[in-house]
Amino acid sequence: MLVVSAGAAWCAGREALASADVLRAQQEVDRVKRMVTMGALPRKALEESQAALTEAKDRDLLQSTLYARDGLNSITEEKSRDMMGAAERQVQRSRERLAAAEKKVDEGVAPLTSLTPYLEEFERNRVVCSQAVAHARLVHEMQEMIRAERELQSRIDQLTSVRPGAYRAAEKFDGNGSFTALHLRAIELGFVKQFRRVMPISAKGDSEMHRGMGYDHRGRVDVAVLPDSTEGMWLRKQLELMRIPHIAFRGYVPGQATGAHIHIGPPSLPYRPLTTATGPTMSPARPGF
Ligand SMILES: [Zn+2]
Repeated sequence: MLVVSAGAAWCAGREALASADVLRAQQEVDRVKRMVTMGALPRKALEESQAALTEAKDRDLLQSTLYARDGLNSITEEKSRDMMGAAERQVQRSRERLAAAEKKVDEGVAPLTSLTPYLEEFERNRVVCSQAVAHARLVHEMQEMIRAERELQSRIDQLTSVRPGAYRAAEKFDGNGSFTALHLRAIELGFVKQFRRVMPISAKGDSEMHRGMGYDHRGRVDVAVLPDSTEGMWLRKQLELMRIPHIAFRGYVPGQATGAHIHIGPPSLPYRPLTTATGPTMSPARPGF
């Protein structure tokens, strides 16, 4: 068993740690293959070692997605689908192992207590699978949120124009244009104090998904609260007091909550901006997220 301390492993890079198990399984496949060629092991042994390699790869995938240190920021929708596939295969494997163990009990060659580890493994993998499903749903909702933000930002002036009594899908506040890590810290602390829970940040700075959709989200933060909820109204009030630019999105389509959130910071710019008459657009400040 190779033991790597978590800290050192993260420094060494996630990929390096994640593949240690896979590497070992691959070496085992190679070793068994040689033995089978020499006739020292049956062909079945090769199939078993190959199955173990596939399983190690699935575990690896779950580790790097479901338990990714930077959470959802590094996950794309495609990756989240792979993650669900891996979780489902794990459940299937433990189901098969359990069935085989049950057969032995039925045949009277193993005691009933021998089922315990298989039942536990099955249960563990089922929990992981439901976590993967919830995770994938979150990734999808985030994607919807970004999509909504993107659609709305292109129509923002039209949508934020003041028409008395009109429903406004988005409200933009320019403030003094500045939003820094210190501001964010202050807001997060204030939120915890006020609501006794951590502020639900759905995207902090750049994310794989924003980039994938062509948006530069550096220096911006998305908070998953409805703009007109108690929390949303409190947050907007603080942002106004601190003169922090933000956009309150009520949703892409009225009533469709997935798009509703509060975007803090200046509007997102295209990731690779087209050169316009005014020159390429650049984000002015880099607050460190
Ligand atoms: Zn945003």
